[in-house]
Amino acid sequence: MIQNLKRIIFQDVQNENETKKVSVILRLNAITMCIYFLCLLCSFFFTGRLELVFWCVPCFCAFVAAFYTTYLNKTRLAVMVSFVIMVCWVVGFVWEFGWNCGAQHFIFVLVVLCFTVSYVKIRWKVAMAAAACILRLLLYAYTTLNVPHCVLGTGFSATFQVINTVFIFLAIALILTVFSRDSQEMEYKLMQYNEKLQEQASLDPLTGLRNRRSMNEYFEKVSEDYAKGKMENMSIAIGDIDFFKRVNDTYGHECGDLVLRNLAEIFKENIEKRDVVSRWGGEEFLFVFYNRNGDEALVFLSSLREKLKKMRIPYKENIIAVTMTFGLCEFDFRQGVDYSVNEADEKLYRGKESGRDRIVY
Ligand code: GH3
Ligand code: MG
Ligand code: MG
Repeated sequence: MIQNLKRIIFQDVQNENETKKVSVILRLNAITMCIYFLCLLCSFFFTGRLELVFWCVPCFCAFVAAFYTTYLNKTRLAVMVSFVIMVCWVVGFVWEFGWNCGAQHFIFVLVVLCFTVSYVKIRWKVAMAAAACILRLLLYAYTTLNVPHCVLGTGFSATFQVINTVFIFLAIALILTVFSRDSQEMEYKLMQYNEKLQEQASLDPLTGLRNRRSMNEYFEKVSEDYAKGKMENMSIAIGDIDFFKRVNDTYGHECGDLVLRNLAEIFKENIEKRDVVSRWGGEEFLFVFYNRNGDEALVFLSSLREKLKKMRIPYKENIIAVTMTFGLCEFDFRQGVDYSVNEADEKLYRGKESGRDRIVY
């Protein structure tokens, strides 16, 4: 039964341009009001006030009609119908039973509806809220100047107040749940989308390593860490594949890409969590050894270089093997990123000049 009720409430409106959220809010409000009038009807019935039962029946029917209008492909019409019915029954009840019946409190539900379902500009919504406020004041003035047509006993007024309080809270809570759930979901999706975009913008698509742009941001962050005393030293290394052009020329660009991806995997597997490796250029990789001096970084790089040497990459009927040359230096926080990167680059060049497949420190 709950499933059926859910299906009825959340069923899409016929016209694709109409918003589903508005219809769902109106449906929930109509159902709440129908149950409210059934409760009133029962309490009137069991207290022997049969003449009052006739007030509840038309109101119940009106909200059934309001519910039905949400299935027509005119959401604006459904909003209008719900508003008119809300105003009419509140005015009717206060006029008949006086201020003590508490129907005027449903004007708050009307205000919440006005802000959540109406399509008008915000200034019109404010104007409608002001009109609702004036309506409540007028009802108050009317009931203080006139004796109600039907006087409710003290006991019955209390029952009325309890039922009203429960249903006003229920209606407002339901309306706001649907209203905020959608906007929160939207916000969450937007946040996830932005995070994904940011991640994509900072990663190299071929290797999945960080790209040069994101490294510049990283260096800004670590420089702050250094200034705050969170780290004492840092080392960087630039690694370049030896004779990589030959791989491309001999086996093709696709094979070159495969080598780059395989190397990236080895880097990711071996690097420590605090360290970072990025694709600095075409076949050049920049390593950052966080809070490690040059000697410590050299130990890591030496072991990595050995692993690279042993790596064999099958490509079609060939087995590809590559070596790398590294330029390593301690990061100079006083001189900045460019200075330290240049120093590593010069050492890399010296490594290439002196025969490749080595680390120059
Ligand atoms: P060296 O030992 O002096 O570094 O020789 P090398 O051949 O590696 O150096 P060079 O700079 O002459 O060649 C680098 C090559 O890397 C040239 C370029 O085609 C290739 N390359 C750069 N980016 C990519 C890429 O994304 N995919 C592939 N397949 N090749 C790339
Ligand atoms: Mg190069
Ligand atoms: Mg190279």
